[in-house]
Amino acid sequence: MKELIKKLTTTPSPSGREEKIKHTILEELQGYIDGYKIDKLGNLIVWKKGKKEGKILLDAHMDEIGVLATYIDEKGFIRIEPIGGVSPYNLLGSSILFPEIEGFVGIEGETSEEMAKNIKNLDFDKIFVDIGASSKEEAERLVPPGTFGVYSSSFRDLGDRVVSKSMDDRVGCAIIIEVFRRSNPIYDLYGSFSVQEEVGLVGASVVAFDIQPDVAIAVDVTAHSDTPKGLKRISLELGKGPTIKIKDSASISDRRLVEKLRCLAEKNQIPYQIEILLRGGTNAAVLQRTRAGIIAGTLSIPTRYVHSPHEMIDIRDVENAVRLFKIFVELEDSIKL
Ligand SMILES: [Zn+2]
Repeated sequence: MKELIKKLTTTPSPSGREEKIKHTILEELQGYIDGYKIDKLGNLIVWKKGKKEGKILLDAHMDEIGVLATYIDEKGFIRIEPIGGVSPYNLLGSSILFPEIEGFVGIEGETSEEMAKNIKNLDFDKIFVDIGASSKEEAERLVPPGTFGVYSSSFRDLGDRVVSKSMDDRVGCAIIIEVFRRSNPIYDLYGSFSVQEEVGLVGASVVAFDIQPDVAIAVDVTAHSDTPKGLKRISLELGKGPTIKIKDSASISDRRLVEKLRCLAEKNQIPYQIEILLRGGTNAAVLQRTRAGIIAGTLSIPTRYVHSPHEMIDIRDVENAVRLFKIFVELEDSIKL
């Protein structure tokens, strides 16, 4: 599992440029699917035939947040724009991986006072990326405006906990891949690895319309509350199990689906947590409001430092999510809600 997560998180593919990760995922699914297609938006949809009539859709977005080169000055310094929720504070002291070269983030400021002021009110106007070029021409050759980049960060194995960029949502992709590898579904099982979630749930908006599933579940990361002075009104801890979402700011999970997943987890002694996310949403919001409405919800992995270059998860939560999904898709009455 760790190797799979390492492979997925270290494949650079920001929103709108998901080609690399799509191929990596397909490669990992070879021999475990009955078919696949890539739709017009670039979503990768795979399936495995069941024995009975009915469809379950598991969705994870395969894009990651990133940046876009917008302008290069006379000395070859590059200005950037975020793709999705990238904080300029997370870029300070870090580096960006462009397809041809790595760039290092600097901040404007003539004096230490000015520098401190800029850090206090940091925005994308105040930072630039240095690829070591000595002229505009040299920088333009390597990173022409319009080039996409992602955080440059490696995978770290800390034991139960692992750290990498883009756990959001490659960990969801890893869970779906493992469910396809390990299960014999009763109903047709569909997996969608959707594009451009980070810029507005774009890919998943069309997936459920196409597949028309009986039940759709988004698999994504969620927040945590277990670091110093963390979130006070919710409880989400690493290692205490995947979380069954009740609500976030974009959707309320279907009550019947929540109950079914809770019952299954309890019956099979799979640890789980109840999730109420105060800010943020998942693809469930658009899966749910497709055609005449679809029974939808979200299963999440608690994650520390979401949208930073160092997103931390607990591998046991991932294993337990796979166990729960395997039981769910092999269940006779999973879609009878
Ligand atoms: Zn995200």
